[in-house]
Amino acid sequence: MAEELRRVAVIGCGFAGIAAALKLAERNIPVTLFEAGKVLGGRARGVDYRGVRLDNGQHILLGAYHETLSLMDGIGVRDAVLRLPLALSVPGQFALRAPALPAPLHLLLGLLNAQGLPFSERLSAIRFALRLRLMGFRLAQDISVASLLARHGQDGNIGRLLWEPLCLAALNTPMDQASAQIFLNVLRDSFSHARSDSDLVLPRVDLSALLPDAAANHIRNRGGKILTGCRIRRIEAADQGFTLHWADGSENFSHVICATAPQHALPLFSTLPELAPAAGLIQKFSYQPIATIYLQYPEQVGLPHPMLGLSGGWAQWVFDHGRTHGIPGLLAVIISTEGAWQHIPAEQMAARIAAELARVFELPEPLWHKVIVEKRATIACTVGTERPEQKTGLRNFYLAGDYTASGYPATIESAVRSGVKCAGLISESISN
Ligand SMILES: Cc1cc2nc3c(=O)[nH]c(=O)nc-3n(C[C@H](O)[C@H](O)[C@H](O)COP(=O)(O)OP(=O)(O)OC[C@H]3O[C@@H](n4cnc5c(N)ncnc54)[C@H](O)[C@@H]3O)c2cc1C
Repeated sequence: MAEELRRVAVIGCGFAGIAAALKLAERNIPVTLFEAGKVLGGRARGVDYRGVRLDNGQHILLGAYHETLSLMDGIGVRDAVLRLPLALSVPGQFALRAPALPAPLHLLLGLLNAQGLPFSERLSAIRFALRLRLMGFRLAQDISVASLLARHGQDGNIGRLLWEPLCLAALNTPMDQASAQIFLNVLRDSFSHARSDSDLVLPRVDLSALLPDAAANHIRNRGGKILTGCRIRRIEAADQGFTLHWADGSENFSHVICATAPQHALPLFSTLPELAPAAGLIQKFSYQPIATIYLQYPEQVGLPHPMLGLSGGWAQWVFDHGRTHGIPGLLAVIISTEGAWQHIPAEQMAARIAAELARVFELPEPLWHKVIVEKRATIACTVGTERPEQKTGLRNFYLAGDYTASGYPATIESAVRSGVKCAGLISESISN
Protein backbone atom coordinates (compact mmCIF):
# COMPACT_ATOMS: atom_id res chain seq x y z
CA MET A 1 0.00 0.00 0.00
CA ALA A 2 1.35 3.45 -0.86
CA GLU A 3 2.80 5.32 2.12
CA GLU A 4 0.34 8.20 1.85
CA LEU A 5 -2.62 5.82 2.03
CA ARG A 6 -1.65 4.33 5.38
CA ARG A 7 -3.97 6.56 7.33
CA VAL A 8 -6.07 5.31 10.16
CA ALA A 9 -9.43 6.70 11.24
CA VAL A 10 -10.62 6.04 14.78
CA ILE A 11 -14.33 6.66 15.30
CA GLY A 12 -15.06 7.50 18.94
CA CYS A 13 -12.92 9.08 21.66
CA GLY A 14 -13.84 6.94 24.63
CA PHE A 15 -11.10 5.00 26.41
CA ALA A 16 -11.02 2.38 23.61
CA GLY A 17 -10.54 4.89 20.79
CA ILE A 18 -8.05 6.97 22.76
CA ALA A 19 -6.00 3.88 23.65
CA ALA A 20 -5.92 2.75 20.02
CA ALA A 21 -4.95 6.20 18.73
CA LEU A 22 -2.26 6.66 21.37
CA LYS A 23 -0.62 3.36 20.45
CA LEU A 24 -0.80 4.14 16.72
CA ALA A 25 0.61 7.65 17.23
CA GLU A 26 3.47 6.17 19.29
CA ARG A 27 4.30 4.00 16.27
CA ASN A 28 4.20 7.09 14.02
CA ILE A 29 1.16 5.81 12.13
CA PRO A 30 -0.94 8.80 11.01
CA VAL A 31 -4.23 8.77 12.86
CA THR A 32 -7.37 10.91 12.85
CA LEU A 33 -9.89 10.64 15.69
CA PHE A 34 -13.54 11.55 15.21
CA GLU A 35 -15.63 12.26 18.30
CA ALA A 36 -19.33 13.09 18.09
CA GLY A 37 -19.36 14.81 21.49
CA LYS A 38 -17.65 18.01 22.61
CA VAL A 39 -15.49 16.35 25.28
CA LEU A 40 -13.30 13.26 25.28
CA GLY A 41 -13.95 10.16 27.36
CA GLY A 42 -17.33 8.85 26.15
CA ARG A 43 -19.02 6.95 28.96
CA ALA A 44 -16.21 7.94 31.32
CA ARG A 45 -16.03 11.71 31.03
CA GLY A 46 -15.94 14.87 33.12
CA VAL A 47 -19.13 16.90 33.53
CA ASP A 48 -19.44 20.49 34.85
CA TYR A 49 -22.16 21.27 37.39
CA ARG A 50 -22.49 24.40 39.56
CA GLY A 51 -18.83 25.20 39.01
CA VAL A 52 -17.78 21.74 40.24
CA ARG A 53 -16.16 19.15 38.01
CA LEU A 54 -18.10 15.89 38.34
CA ASP A 55 -18.16 12.78 36.18
CA ASN A 56 -21.00 11.25 34.20
CA GLY A 57 -20.56 8.37 36.66
CA GLN A 58 -18.32 7.41 39.56
CA HIS A 59 -15.74 4.86 38.37
CA ILE A 60 -13.54 2.34 40.20
CA LEU A 61 -10.47 0.68 38.69
CA LEU A 62 -8.51 -2.28 40.00
CA GLY A 63 -4.80 -2.83 40.34
CA ALA A 64 -5.31 -5.67 37.85
CA TYR A 65 -6.21 -3.16 35.12
CA HIS A 66 -2.65 -3.42 33.82
CA GLU A 67 -3.28 -2.19 30.31
CA THR A 68 -5.05 0.97 31.51
CA LEU A 69 -2.56 1.73 34.27
CA SER A 70 0.43 1.18 32.00
CA LEU A 71 -1.07 3.51 29.40
CA MET A 72 -1.48 6.12 32.14
CA ASP A 73 2.10 5.53 33.25
CA GLY A 74 3.33 5.99 29.70
CA ILE A 75 1.88 9.49 29.48
CA GLY A 76 2.77 10.49 33.04
CA VAL A 77 -0.71 10.59 34.61
CA ARG A 78 -0.39 7.81 37.15
CA ASP A 79 -0.66 10.38 39.97
CA ALA A 80 -4.20 10.94 38.81
CA VAL A 81 -5.32 7.93 40.84
CA LEU A 82 -5.38 6.95 44.49
CA ARG A 83 -4.34 3.32 45.09
CA LEU A 84 -5.83 1.69 48.16
CA PRO A 85 -4.74 -1.75 49.37
CA LEU A 86 -7.67 -4.19 49.39
CA ALA A 87 -10.09 -3.19 52.16
CA LEU A 88 -13.84 -3.60 51.79
CA SER A 89 -16.21 -2.45 54.44
CA VAL A 90 -19.94 -2.08 54.91
CA PRO A 91 -20.14 0.06 58.08
CA GLY A 92 -21.73 -1.78 60.98
CA GLN A 93 -22.01 -5.06 59.04
CA PHE A 94 -18.80 -6.26 57.41
CA ALA A 95 -15.10 -5.45 57.11
CA LEU A 96 -12.35 -7.21 55.19
CA ARG A 97 -8.83 -5.84 55.31
CA ALA A 98 -6.09 -7.71 53.47
CA PRO A 99 -2.78 -7.75 55.38
CA ALA A 100 0.50 -6.83 53.66
CA LEU A 101 1.36 -10.41 52.59
CA PRO A 102 2.01 -11.88 49.15
CA ALA A 103 -1.08 -12.87 47.09
CA PRO A 104 -3.13 -14.94 47.59
CA LEU A 105 -2.22 -15.16 51.30
CA HIS A 106 -3.36 -11.58 51.78
CA LEU A 107 -6.87 -12.51 50.60
CA LEU A 108 -7.02 -15.76 52.55
CA LEU A 109 -5.99 -14.08 55.77
CA GLY A 110 -8.29 -11.18 55.05
CA LEU A 111 -11.18 -13.64 54.68
CA LEU A 112 -10.18 -15.52 57.83
CA ASN A 113 -10.23 -12.33 59.89
CA ALA A 114 -13.19 -10.67 58.19
CA GLN A 115 -15.53 -9.01 60.68
CA GLY A 116 -19.27 -9.54 60.60
CA LEU A 117 -19.34 -13.14 59.37
CA PRO A 118 -19.58 -16.36 61.37
CA PHE A 119 -16.41 -18.47 61.45
CA SER A 120 -18.04 -21.20 59.33
CA GLU A 121 -18.73 -18.73 56.48
CA ARG A 122 -15.18 -17.37 56.63
CA LEU A 123 -13.78 -20.88 56.44
CA SER A 124 -16.06 -21.78 53.57
CA ALA A 125 -14.97 -18.60 51.71
CA ILE A 126 -11.34 -19.67 52.08
CA ARG A 127 -12.19 -23.14 50.74
CA PHE A 128 -13.97 -21.47 47.82
CA ALA A 129 -10.94 -19.25 47.06
CA LEU A 130 -8.61 -22.28 47.16
CA ARG A 131 -10.96 -24.31 44.99
CA LEU A 132 -11.06 -21.53 42.37
CA ARG A 133 -7.27 -21.57 42.28
CA LEU A 134 -7.23 -25.35 41.81
CA MET A 135 -9.70 -24.96 38.96
CA GLY A 136 -7.39 -22.35 37.39
CA PHE A 137 -10.37 -19.99 37.62
CA ARG A 138 -11.90 -21.89 34.67
CA LEU A 139 -15.34 -23.43 34.40
CA ALA A 140 -16.02 -26.32 32.03
CA GLN A 141 -19.28 -24.62 31.22
CA ASP A 142 -20.32 -21.07 32.05
CA ILE A 143 -23.06 -20.63 34.65
CA SER A 144 -24.45 -17.61 36.47
CA VAL A 145 -22.54 -16.06 39.36
CA ALA A 146 -25.53 -16.86 41.61
CA SER A 147 -25.33 -20.57 40.66
CA LEU A 148 -21.57 -20.63 41.19
CA LEU A 149 -21.94 -19.12 44.66
CA ALA A 150 -24.78 -21.48 45.59
CA ARG A 151 -22.76 -24.47 44.37
CA HIS A 152 -19.90 -23.50 46.70
CA GLY A 153 -21.99 -22.46 49.71
CA GLN A 154 -21.25 -18.77 49.19
CA ASP A 155 -24.83 -17.56 48.99
CA GLY A 156 -25.27 -16.62 52.65
CA ASN A 157 -24.13 -13.36 54.27
CA ILE A 158 -20.81 -13.51 52.45
CA GLY A 159 -22.67 -13.56 49.15
CA ARG A 160 -24.69 -10.51 50.12
CA LEU A 161 -21.85 -8.54 51.71
CA LEU A 162 -18.85 -9.49 49.56
CA TRP A 163 -19.49 -11.42 46.35
CA GLU A 164 -22.63 -9.62 45.18
CA PRO A 165 -21.19 -6.09 45.59
CA LEU A 166 -18.02 -7.25 43.77
CA CYS A 167 -20.07 -8.81 40.98
CA LEU A 168 -22.19 -5.67 40.52
CA ALA A 169 -19.14 -3.41 40.61
CA ALA A 170 -17.21 -5.50 38.09
CA LEU A 171 -19.92 -6.81 35.73
CA ASN A 172 -22.85 -4.40 36.26
CA THR A 173 -25.11 -7.40 35.82
CA PRO A 174 -27.48 -9.04 38.35
CA MET A 175 -25.92 -12.15 39.87
CA ASP A 176 -28.59 -14.52 38.56
CA GLN A 177 -27.70 -13.48 34.98
CA ALA A 178 -24.01 -12.57 35.30
CA SER A 179 -21.40 -14.79 33.64
CA ALA A 180 -19.45 -16.65 36.32
CA GLN A 181 -16.55 -17.17 33.90
CA ILE A 182 -16.11 -13.45 33.28
CA PHE A 183 -16.37 -12.84 37.04
CA LEU A 184 -13.69 -15.47 37.63
CA ASN A 185 -11.44 -13.82 35.05
CA VAL A 186 -11.54 -10.63 37.14
CA LEU A 187 -11.01 -12.55 40.41
CA ARG A 188 -8.07 -14.46 38.86
CA ASP A 189 -6.33 -11.29 37.73
CA SER A 190 -7.05 -9.42 40.97
CA PHE A 191 -6.30 -12.07 43.57
CA SER A 192 -3.83 -14.62 42.32
CA HIS A 193 -0.72 -12.78 41.10
CA ALA A 194 0.72 -9.69 42.82
CA ARG A 195 -0.90 -8.25 45.94
CA SER A 196 -1.11 -4.84 44.25
CA ASP A 197 -3.44 -6.35 41.61
CA SER A 198 -6.21 -6.33 44.21
CA ASP A 199 -5.72 -2.62 44.97
CA LEU A 200 -8.79 -0.45 44.59
CA VAL A 201 -7.81 2.37 42.28
CA LEU A 202 -9.88 5.56 42.52
CA PRO A 203 -9.62 8.54 40.18
CA ARG A 204 -8.42 11.73 41.84
CA VAL A 205 -9.32 13.91 38.87
CA ASP A 206 -12.32 13.92 36.57
CA LEU A 207 -12.45 11.07 34.06
CA SER A 208 -11.62 13.15 30.97
CA ALA A 209 -8.49 14.37 32.75
CA LEU A 210 -7.71 10.85 33.97
CA LEU A 211 -6.51 9.67 30.57
CA PRO A 212 -8.27 11.02 27.45
CA ASP A 213 -7.18 14.69 27.67
CA ALA A 214 -3.54 13.90 28.41
CA ALA A 215 -3.50 11.16 25.77
CA ALA A 216 -5.00 13.59 23.25
CA ASN A 217 -2.05 15.96 23.79
CA HIS A 218 0.39 13.11 23.11
CA ILE A 219 -1.52 12.11 19.99
CA ARG A 220 -1.51 15.69 18.65
CA ASN A 221 2.18 16.11 19.48
CA ARG A 222 2.87 13.10 17.30
CA GLY A 223 0.96 14.52 14.37
CA GLY A 224 -2.42 12.92 15.05
CA LYS A 225 -5.65 14.87 14.46
CA ILE A 226 -8.64 14.96 16.81
CA LEU A 227 -11.95 16.32 15.56
CA THR A 228 -14.56 16.83 18.29
CA GLY A 229 -18.23 17.58 17.60
CA CYS A 230 -17.78 15.48 14.45
CA ARG A 231 -20.16 12.52 14.17
CA ILE A 232 -19.42 10.01 11.43
CA ARG A 233 -22.68 9.48 9.56
CA ARG A 234 -21.74 6.89 6.95
CA ILE A 235 -18.84 4.67 5.93
CA GLU A 236 -18.34 3.43 2.37
CA ALA A 237 -15.89 0.85 1.17
CA ALA A 238 -13.57 2.61 -1.33
CA ASP A 239 -10.88 1.36 -3.71
CA GLN A 240 -8.07 1.12 -1.20
CA GLY A 241 -9.88 1.53 2.07
CA PHE A 242 -12.86 3.48 3.28
CA THR A 243 -14.55 6.85 2.85
CA LEU A 244 -15.89 8.36 6.06
CA HIS A 245 -18.69 10.92 5.80
CA TRP A 246 -19.67 13.52 8.40
CA ALA A 247 -22.08 16.49 8.27
CA ASP A 248 -19.90 18.74 6.14
CA GLY A 249 -17.04 16.62 4.88
CA SER A 250 -15.63 13.27 3.91
CA GLU A 251 -12.16 11.72 3.78
CA ASN A 252 -10.48 8.47 2.74
CA PHE A 253 -8.57 6.19 5.09
CA SER A 254 -6.74 2.93 4.61
CA HIS A 255 -7.84 1.50 7.97
CA VAL A 256 -10.77 2.16 10.27
CA ILE A 257 -11.22 1.39 13.95
CA CYS A 258 -14.83 1.74 15.00
CA ALA A 259 -14.60 2.55 18.73
CA THR A 260 -18.15 3.63 19.47
CA ALA A 261 -20.54 2.05 21.96
CA PRO A 262 -22.19 -1.01 20.37
CA GLN A 263 -25.58 0.60 19.77
CA HIS A 264 -23.87 3.47 17.90
CA ALA A 265 -21.80 1.09 15.80
CA LEU A 266 -24.83 -0.62 14.28
CA PRO A 267 -25.98 2.20 11.96
CA LEU A 268 -22.40 2.59 10.71
CA PHE A 269 -22.26 -1.10 9.75
CA SER A 270 -25.33 -0.91 7.51
CA THR A 271 -23.31 -0.04 4.38
CA LEU A 272 -20.72 -2.77 4.98
CA PRO A 273 -22.26 -6.25 4.49
CA GLU A 274 -19.10 -8.03 5.71
CA LEU A 275 -19.89 -6.70 9.19
CA ALA A 276 -23.23 -8.52 9.37
CA PRO A 277 -21.90 -11.22 11.78
CA ALA A 278 -20.67 -8.58 14.23
CA ALA A 279 -23.93 -6.65 13.84
CA GLY A 280 -25.84 -9.87 14.57
CA LEU A 281 -24.02 -10.29 17.90
CA ILE A 282 -24.55 -6.64 18.87
CA GLN A 283 -28.27 -6.89 18.15
CA LYS A 284 -28.55 -9.61 20.78
CA PHE A 285 -26.99 -7.48 23.55
CA SER A 286 -28.98 -6.24 26.47
CA TYR A 287 -27.86 -3.26 28.54
CA GLN A 288 -27.72 -2.29 32.20
CA PRO A 289 -28.02 1.17 33.78
CA ILE A 290 -25.92 2.89 36.46
CA ALA A 291 -26.93 5.91 38.52
CA THR A 292 -24.54 8.21 40.32
CA ILE A 293 -26.05 10.43 42.98
CA TYR A 294 -23.83 13.33 43.96
CA LEU A 295 -24.67 14.89 47.32
CA GLN A 296 -22.88 18.05 48.40
CA TYR A 297 -22.77 18.45 52.17
CA PRO A 298 -21.12 21.23 54.20
CA GLU A 299 -17.34 21.14 53.81
CA GLN A 300 -16.62 19.58 57.21
CA VAL A 301 -18.54 16.40 56.25
CA GLY A 302 -16.40 13.41 55.33
CA LEU A 303 -16.34 9.61 55.48
CA PRO A 304 -13.85 7.49 57.43
CA HIS A 305 -12.63 5.89 54.16
CA PRO A 306 -12.62 7.08 50.51
CA MET A 307 -14.92 4.20 49.45
CA LEU A 308 -17.43 2.25 51.54
CA GLY A 309 -20.04 -0.39 50.77
CA LEU A 310 -23.70 -0.04 51.73
CA SER A 311 -26.27 -2.76 52.15
CA GLY A 312 -30.01 -3.03 52.72
CA GLY A 313 -31.12 -0.10 50.54
CA TRP A 314 -30.61 1.13 46.99
CA ALA A 315 -27.17 2.67 47.54
CA GLN A 316 -24.37 0.18 46.87
CA TRP A 317 -21.17 2.19 47.31
CA VAL A 318 -20.37 5.66 48.56
CA PHE A 319 -17.24 7.66 47.70
CA ASP A 320 -15.82 10.66 49.50
CA HIS A 321 -14.63 13.18 46.90
CA GLY A 322 -13.06 15.22 49.67
CA ARG A 323 -10.56 12.39 50.09
CA THR A 324 -10.13 11.60 46.40
CA HIS A 325 -10.69 14.81 44.44
CA GLY A 326 -10.11 17.46 47.12
CA ILE A 327 -13.76 18.57 46.99
CA PRO A 328 -14.72 18.61 50.69
CA GLY A 329 -18.25 17.49 51.57
CA LEU A 330 -19.00 15.96 48.17
CA LEU A 331 -20.15 12.32 48.31
CA ALA A 332 -20.95 10.16 45.29
CA VAL A 333 -23.26 7.16 45.61
CA ILE A 334 -23.58 4.39 43.02
CA ILE A 335 -26.60 2.29 42.18
CA SER A 336 -25.89 -0.22 39.45
CA THR A 337 -28.08 -2.63 37.49
CA GLU A 338 -31.79 -2.36 36.84
CA GLY A 339 -34.25 -1.97 39.71
CA ALA A 340 -37.18 -0.07 41.14
CA TRP A 341 -34.94 3.01 41.45
CA GLN A 342 -35.22 3.58 37.70
CA HIS A 343 -38.85 4.66 38.04
CA ILE A 344 -38.28 7.38 40.64
CA PRO A 345 -37.76 11.07 39.74
CA ALA A 346 -34.26 12.42 40.44
CA GLU A 347 -35.44 14.66 43.28
CA GLN A 348 -36.99 11.74 45.19
CA MET A 349 -34.06 9.46 44.47
CA ALA A 350 -31.60 12.01 45.93
CA ALA A 351 -33.79 12.42 49.04
CA ARG A 352 -34.03 8.65 49.49
CA ILE A 353 -30.27 8.14 49.10
CA ALA A 354 -29.52 11.01 51.51
CA ALA A 355 -31.85 9.29 54.03
CA GLU A 356 -30.09 5.95 53.50
CA LEU A 357 -26.71 7.60 54.16
CA ALA A 358 -28.03 9.39 57.21
CA ARG A 359 -29.00 6.03 58.73
CA VAL A 360 -25.36 4.92 58.58
CA PHE A 361 -23.35 8.12 59.06
CA GLU A 362 -24.06 11.26 61.03
CA LEU A 363 -24.94 13.69 58.26
CA PRO A 364 -26.77 17.00 57.95
CA GLU A 365 -29.09 17.75 54.99
CA PRO A 366 -27.19 17.99 51.70
CA LEU A 367 -26.82 21.49 50.24
CA TRP A 368 -27.45 20.32 46.70
CA HIS A 369 -27.58 17.14 44.67
CA LYS A 370 -27.08 15.99 41.13
CA VAL A 371 -28.40 12.66 39.86
CA ILE A 372 -26.89 11.27 36.65
CA VAL A 373 -28.44 8.14 35.21
CA GLU A 374 -26.76 6.34 32.33
CA LYS A 375 -29.45 4.05 30.94
CA ARG A 376 -27.09 2.04 28.78
CA ALA A 377 -24.05 2.24 31.00
CA THR A 378 -22.70 -1.12 29.83
CA ILE A 379 -23.81 -4.25 28.06
CA ALA A 380 -25.12 -6.91 30.40
CA CYS A 381 -22.36 -9.45 30.86
CA THR A 382 -24.64 -12.48 30.94
CA VAL A 383 -24.03 -16.20 30.61
CA GLY A 384 -23.68 -17.05 26.94
CA THR A 385 -23.29 -13.48 25.63
CA GLU A 386 -21.13 -13.71 22.52
CA ARG A 387 -19.02 -10.64 21.83
CA PRO A 388 -17.44 -9.70 18.48
CA GLU A 389 -13.68 -9.95 17.99
CA GLN A 390 -11.62 -6.84 17.28
CA LYS A 391 -10.63 -8.22 13.89
CA THR A 392 -13.69 -8.31 11.64
CA GLY A 393 -14.51 -10.12 8.40
CA LEU A 394 -13.81 -6.88 6.54
CA ARG A 395 -10.15 -6.33 5.71
CA ASN A 396 -8.61 -3.32 7.52
CA PHE A 397 -11.76 -2.64 9.53
CA TYR A 398 -11.51 -3.22 13.29
CA LEU A 399 -13.75 -2.97 16.32
CA ALA A 400 -12.65 -1.49 19.64
CA GLY A 401 -14.85 -1.00 22.67
CA ASP A 402 -15.65 -2.43 26.05
CA TYR A 403 -18.25 -4.74 24.45
CA THR A 404 -15.76 -6.56 22.21
CA ALA A 405 -14.29 -9.96 23.13
CA SER A 406 -11.66 -9.10 25.73
CA GLY A 407 -12.28 -11.74 28.39
CA TYR A 408 -13.26 -8.89 30.70
CA PRO A 409 -16.59 -7.36 31.60
CA ALA A 410 -17.54 -4.09 29.89
CA THR A 411 -15.12 -1.89 31.79
CA ILE A 412 -12.44 0.68 31.15
CA GLU A 413 -9.86 -2.13 31.08
CA SER A 414 -11.83 -4.03 28.44
CA ALA A 415 -12.11 -0.85 26.35
CA VAL A 416 -8.39 -0.10 26.64
CA ARG A 417 -7.36 -3.70 25.92
CA SER A 418 -9.48 -3.72 22.77
CA GLY A 419 -8.02 -0.43 21.57
CA VAL A 420 -4.45 -1.57 22.17
CA LYS A 421 -5.19 -4.82 20.34
CA CYS A 422 -6.60 -2.99 17.28
CA ALA A 423 -3.51 -0.77 17.14
CA GLY A 424 -1.31 -3.89 17.25
CA LEU A 425 -3.28 -5.57 14.45
CA ILE A 426 -3.02 -2.48 12.27
CA SER A 427 0.68 -1.99 12.80
CA GLU A 428 1.20 -5.68 11.92
CA SER A 429 -0.89 -5.33 8.77
CA ILE A 430 1.00 -2.21 7.73
CA SER A 431 4.44 -3.71 8.29
CA ASN A 432 3.56 -6.87 6.28
C1 LIG B 1 -22.09 5.46 35.06
C2 LIG B 1 -21.03 4.49 34.65
C3 LIG B 1 -20.23 3.91 35.61
C4 LIG B 1 -19.23 3.00 35.22
N1 LIG B 1 -18.40 2.49 36.18
C5 LIG B 1 -17.31 1.81 35.79
C6 LIG B 1 -16.31 1.43 36.74
O1 LIG B 1 -16.44 1.69 37.92
N2 LIG B 1 -15.19 0.79 36.28
C7 LIG B 1 -15.01 0.52 34.96
O2 LIG B 1 -13.95 -0.01 34.62
N3 LIG B 1 -15.95 0.82 34.04
C8 LIG B 1 -17.08 1.47 34.42
N4 LIG B 1 -18.02 1.83 33.50
C9 LIG B 1 -17.86 1.38 32.13
C10 LIG B 1 -16.88 2.26 31.35
O3 LIG B 1 -17.22 3.61 31.46
C11 LIG B 1 -16.94 1.83 29.90
O4 LIG B 1 -16.65 0.45 29.82
C12 LIG B 1 -15.94 2.56 29.02
O5 LIG B 1 -15.93 3.94 29.28
C13 LIG B 1 -16.32 2.30 27.56
O6 LIG B 1 -15.39 2.92 26.71
P1 LIG B 1 -15.50 2.75 25.14
O7 LIG B 1 -14.39 3.55 24.57
O8 LIG B 1 -15.62 1.32 24.80
O9 LIG B 1 -16.92 3.39 24.72
P2 LIG B 1 -17.50 4.85 24.93
O10 LIG B 1 -16.99 5.43 26.18
O11 LIG B 1 -18.97 4.74 24.77
O12 LIG B 1 -16.88 5.71 23.74
C14 LIG B 1 -17.46 5.78 22.47
C15 LIG B 1 -17.32 7.18 21.93
O13 LIG B 1 -17.77 7.17 20.57
C16 LIG B 1 -18.44 8.39 20.31
N5 LIG B 1 -19.29 8.16 19.13
C17 LIG B 1 -20.40 7.39 19.03
N6 LIG B 1 -20.85 7.38 17.76
C18 LIG B 1 -20.01 8.15 17.04
C19 LIG B 1 -19.95 8.53 15.65
N7 LIG B 1 -20.84 8.09 14.78
N8 LIG B 1 -18.93 9.36 15.25
C20 LIG B 1 -18.00 9.80 16.15
N9 LIG B 1 -18.03 9.48 17.47
C21 LIG B 1 -19.00 8.65 17.90
C22 LIG B 1 -19.21 8.66 21.61
O14 LIG B 1 -19.56 10.02 21.71
C23 LIG B 1 -18.18 8.20 22.65
O15 LIG B 1 -17.37 9.27 23.06
C24 LIG B 1 -19.06 2.68 33.86
C25 LIG B 1 -19.90 3.26 32.90
C26 LIG B 1 -20.86 4.16 33.28
C27 LIG B 1 -21.71 4.79 32.21
